[in-house]
Amino acid sequence: MRILLVLGTRPEIIKLGPVYLALREAGVDVDVFSSGQHVELAEGLLDLFGMTPTYQEADAVLQADVAGKYGVVMQRVESVLRQVRYDWVVVQGDTTTAVAAATAAFMCRVPVAHIEAGLRTGTIMSPWPEEFNRRVIAQAAALHFVPTTLARDNLLKEGIAAKQIAIVGNTVVDALLYVRSKIGQAYVPHDPELADLPADKKLVLVTLHRRENIGEPIRDILRALRDLGEDGDKLIALPVHLNPGVRAEVKAVLGDAPNVRLLAPLRYADFVYLLSRAWTVVTDSGGVQEEAPTFGLQILIARESTERPEVIEAGFGTLVGSDRAKIVEGVRRLTAGNTRQLLPAINPFGDGAAAQRIADRLSTVNVKSFECSMSPVKSPEARL
Ligand code: UDP
Repeated sequence: MRILLVLGTRPEIIKLGPVYLALREAGVDVDVFSSGQHVELAEGLLDLFGMTPTYQEADAVLQADVAGKYGVVMQRVESVLRQVRYDWVVVQGDTTTAVAAATAAFMCRVPVAHIEAGLRTGTIMSPWPEEFNRRVIAQAAALHFVPTTLARDNLLKEGIAAKQIAIVGNTVVDALLYVRSKIGQAYVPHDPELADLPADKKLVLVTLHRRENIGEPIRDILRALRDLGEDGDKLIALPVHLNPGVRAEVKAVLGDAPNVRLLAPLRYADFVYLLSRAWTVVTDSGGVQEEAPTFGLQILIARESTERPEVIEAGFGTLVGSDRAKIVEGVRRLTAGNTRQLLPAINPFGDGAAAQRIADRLSTVNVKSFECSMSPVKSPEARL
């Protein structure tokens, strides 16, 4: 059994790290293709899980625009698959790296396993281009690892056979528990700025990066954060994403705002450390919506819709879009009083054993591998 894991962005590395460890533990031969879609954001992350890429791309992907990245990753993955015979190509989530690798593997007739399959907003333009990417990956995949029953139902509605779907939970919970156990009680943050966060203020953690929020929506969200900083009892901590569009807006609106701490993107362990101390979170991130319930945190989702409605149904999340008044009111409500308002920490996205389930399935499934050649086409189902 030989498997190629494909990753490139920060969330993919976080969510595939536990899968890499579990596959290695199961004695599977695992190679890693890193597209280099994120470089600075991913610093230290591969090491955290002991991963060394077998194939490492960098500049060509970084320099290209969205469609160009797709093309570069597709070509590079194809050239790997022409040289080495893999039983599975494993992709995660909905990034350009994932959709390009899944497409290349499909074209090369190598079975694709999709982790975090079945997430849908139902609106092809939101989030853009991720909703498109997920749907294309679903067409290329032979095996779909879904986090929840809702995600499974989404795939069943699209005509994917039940036997090709496995409900395993989300591997982000595995990663979070792994890192939380590593950092322990006496954690010294990697970023020195975190050492002197005022202990007498209520910590509001914020992440913003979605393309569809850039422009007027992000400006409104940032104005809400400025209002909250002016309250005086809270500290707004915002690790600023490297996207230049995000950086420019943040600097313009929050540059000199009181009680707002603008940070460099944090190492994963530092971010988990802040999650463990936060009173609430304002975020447009997908992964953070999945992580917050493990800490019992109630969060405000700065998006119009979410492909993770489980976080709302379980009582941890509220959709606030970019509505300044709703964000201000929501944060004030969740930071009222003298103690944090935590809920029982039952995470609807998983129990921390998702990677093990994925490794068990991948290492035992009877699959015939295909070389990248012009052999007769077989449907993905026929390979299982
Ligand atoms: N994260 C991190 N450092 C930060 C901000 C976020 O390590 O400064 C982690 C976070 O815990 C989550 C992941 O990055 O696991 C989310 O990444 P992002 O929001 O960029 O992507 P999305 O989940 O929206 O695809």
